[in-house]
Amino acid sequence: MTELSPKFKYEVAQEPGGEGIKLCFACGICTASCPIRAIDEGYNPRRIIRMVLLGMKQRVLSSDFIWFCSSCYACTERCPQGVKFTDVMNAIKNLAVKQGYVPTPFVQQIDILKRFGRLYEIDEFDNKKRAGFGLPKVEKARGFTKKIMEMTELEQIILRKNEK
Ligand code: SF4
Ligand code: SF4
Repeated sequence: MTELSPKFKYEVAQEPGGEGIKLCFACGICTASCPIRAIDEGYNPRRIIRMVLLGMKQRVLSSDFIWFCSSCYACTERCPQGVKFTDVMNAIKNLAVKQGYVPTPFVQQIDILKRFGRLYEIDEFDNKKRAGFGLPKVEKARGFTKKIMEMTELEQIILRKNEK
């Protein structure tokens, strides 16, 4: 049996956005409202909350499903207890990142953001097309993103992942 961490719910509750998790009374409205759940039955907000409350820390933090949430806020708007599950998911993801669990596509996106300042590099070809539509030229990113990433843990996430 996987080892349980009884304090996990407190860790989530202490993370910004995770404060409401202990208010959940398992009605399932979030799960019924979720568009991701509608296309993938493996994703279940109510079950994620139960797993956190039961202390299944490593199972939750290392799972792919915590990254499935599209942040549409349908669950948050409908929850009768004010749990704010979208924010709870962000709190869980923050804890996962702190433990080094980050899906490779996210790391790649961070790396592209660091290098180009945006997720899609705009070059002269794109700017010519933009000019054809009467749109202004997009200048090259000036390194602000790179500086921010070097000053935060995002840089470390990239390095940690690349070392593995
Ligand atoms: S809607 Fe709110 S109270 Fe109901 S299961 Fe989801 S988070 Fe818990
Ligand atoms: S915010 Fe996330 S968990 Fe909530 S309904 Fe939208 S996709 Fe589902």
